[in-house]
Amino acid sequence: MAARPAPYLEGLNPAQREAVEALDGPVLMLAGAGTGKTRALTARIAHILAQGRAREGEILAVTFTNKAAREMKERVGQLMRQPVEGMPWMGTFHSICAKILRRHAEMVGLKSSFAILDTDDQIRLLKQVITAANIDEKRWPARQLAGLIDHWKNRAWRPEQVPAAEAGAFNHRGSELYAAYQARLVTLNAVDFGDLLLHVVTIFQKNPDILTRYQQKFRFILVDEYQDTNVAQYLWLRLLAAGHRNICCVGDDDQSIYGWRGAEVGNILRFEKDFPGARVIRLEQNYRSTEHILGAASGLIAANAGRLGKSLWTESTGGQKVRLIGHWDGEEEARWIGEEIESLARGRGEMDPVRLNDQAILVRASHQMRAFEDRFMTIGLPYRVVGGPRFYERLEIRDAMAYFRLAVSPADDLAFERVVNTPKRGLGDKAQQLIQSTARAAGTSLFEGARAVIENGALGGKGARNLREFLSGIERWHAQTLRPGYDHIRLAETILDESGYTAMWQNDKTPEAPGRLDNLKELVKALEGFENLQGFLEHVALVMDNDAEEGEDKVTIMTLHAAKGLEFPVVFLPGWEDGLFPSQRSMDENGLKGLEEERRLAYVGITRAERLCTISFAGNRRVYGQWQSQMPSRFIDELPAEHVEVLTPPGLYGGGYGAASTAGTASGIEERAARSDAYNSPGWRRLQERAQTRPTSQPREARNVIIDLDASSVFTLGDRVFHRKFGYGTVEAIEGDKLVVAFDKAGTKHVVAGYVVAAAA
Ligand code: ATP
Ligand code: MG
Repeated sequence: MAARPAPYLEGLNPAQREAVEALDGPVLMLAGAGTGKTRALTARIAHILAQGRAREGEILAVTFTNKAAREMKERVGQLMRQPVEGMPWMGTFHSICAKILRRHAEMVGLKSSFAILDTDDQIRLLKQVITAANIDEKRWPARQLAGLIDHWKNRAWRPEQVPAAEAGAFNHRGSELYAAYQARLVTLNAVDFGDLLLHVVTIFQKNPDILTRYQQKFRFILVDEYQDTNVAQYLWLRLLAAGHRNICCVGDDDQSIYGWRGAEVGNILRFEKDFPGARVIRLEQNYRSTEHILGAASGLIAANAGRLGKSLWTESTGGQKVRLIGHWDGEEEARWIGEEIESLARGRGEMDPVRLNDQAILVRASHQMRAFEDRFMTIGLPYRVVGGPRFYERLEIRDAMAYFRLAVSPADDLAFERVVNTPKRGLGDKAQQLIQSTARAAGTSLFEGARAVIENGALGGKGARNLREFLSGIERWHAQTLRPGYDHIRLAETILDESGYTAMWQNDKTPEAPGRLDNLKELVKALEGFENLQGFLEHVALVMDNDAEEGEDKVTIMTLHAAKGLEFPVVFLPGWEDGLFPSQRSMDENGLKGLEEERRLAYVGITRAERLCTISFAGNRRVYGQWQSQMPSRFIDELPAEHVEVLTPPGLYGGGYGAASTAGTASGIEERAARSDAYNSPGWRRLQERAQTRPTSQPREARNVIIDLDASSVFTLGDRVFHRKFGYGTVEAIEGDKLVVAFDKAGTKHVVAGYVVAAAA
């Protein structure tokens, strides 16, 4: 009787099985999304242990996140039918390197108790280094140097190894400052993130005996998400694998999305050269997604040049097509997605209810999260933000909110403390202590204390001048908040402007600065939903308080980058608009290469979905109170029509993407939409036909749309409509292509029908 296969082999296909059982020599598993690479890698670990080929401490397994490492450990335990105890060398590159470095810290002049600096500490230290070198930190900001040093460390260049071609960097002083910074770190017994790898590589290169020990120790090396390793990580792996040569890397060139952080997809292509005789295993069956999801993703990624190319198939035929829907603006998009999530969670049609834990919203840029957080907060939909602070917890948002709080209530001491010297006003610790003690002695707020400090002349010079200006700003802003019906959006902009806060980030040359400025714009946008600053602050206090219990059923909101390797039955991909996704910045900075990386990110996004994937875009977004029309992402045009269903927002009859263009900012979208094959899909046409047979007098329930309507055939008297400048109103008369609308706030106006959309009754 044939023996039953080991439990960890059960259900694997032949190619996966080969990847699990080919223990000797280098193996490269190169395959598309959802083909079971991670699963095979996990089974391989179980196999190594079960066969007694290595003990837990002799397996080096690199995952992309610490969470992935924990999950993998658990899965190995399940496959082995017994818990795995240690697996001490399973983790991210950083966590594994930190462990090795603690053991050999003295080799690079550190003590094993070294501290790992966060970005803030790193910047502070770099500022000192720059100033000590007599360089004007304003012209040559520390953050820029931090980016440069990071770039060099990703390439495993120590200061003396920075090539001549880069000598011009940072006013020709880059590598010199890099050396000074490294020396300072050693004095402080500290390292930054990049050092973790760099130091270990250095130790290995300079101490063959130590390297040999690790080479012998790690009988098996496994690496997930290999396409995103940078040069330093690659060197590190190559050094370690030179011993037993039992290295198994898995990856997908189409999912390489960290080029901007120094990852080199070329590492995959070089694998066979570096490890002659490597066995290359390709997996082609996708187990994650339905046929349409896979078809849409494959069609999209086909537009990239220079791919290794793979064919993918799935047994999961049928299922729903990838849904595509346009919305009037970002708030509507958030509202619609919120309703969809709730309706899916209740269960609809033939579908079983989908738990919130099984639904995810994946965004391109973290500022997109704000609209969802606000909306979900309002309707009480539990959510979690993965891989980064929630919108209102971000540094720049907290700073800006502190200014708003001071405007509303100058006696808010916490807010005062937070921003009195942000941006820098020359009010250091000493000046702040003076303000504090003065306020305490008089039993007043810091604001009053500061006023007293100026009046009694205890503070002089530039600091005093700046403080006076800061205080008078607060007074001015506060006076405005007392006027009934004040324009709180304009006030918010004024505050950020006059305080110098926006300028602070505009002058900041670091990679994060543009994102922070985007977040500030998004913050101002959020104000539009409120009557005044007070109401807004109250709302945010509630959002912040909404920290539901862990383990609760919640929708996940995360960036596409953070979603790599994960899967969810239901996925929403909002904000597919040119400039947002693909992001303008990546195209400006990296041209075609940037665009292709964005496309891979889109591929990662779609392939996270198991059963239902919904892509959406907004026709308009508000930036600083101004409408900006948005073009649907070019990626939408690239989705194969046969795998896409275009949704018409419920309640909109006869209008939509295909309707003849009328004037207005949205017409560009329509033109583009008309060109797009996606809109000619049978599903879309069917929906349109069905929509046209419905009576127009039926009360409309929904408000999502998008594109201009041919109003003469659509609106009837008494309809509620929305106009992007005048807001909500009711149709009072129809005159050809014009409507007479009584707007709730703006009064009665004649408007071109194409400029309004249907709104909820
Ligand atoms: P990604 O490229 O997104 O990281 P992946 O190739 O690592 O994807 P996995 O996450 O390992 O893919 O697997 C995708 C899904 O398919 C998982 O739910 C996994 O359990 C399932 N799966 C993998 N192999 C098989 C198989 N042989 N039989 C059934 N299900 C499988
Ligand atoms: Mg994986």
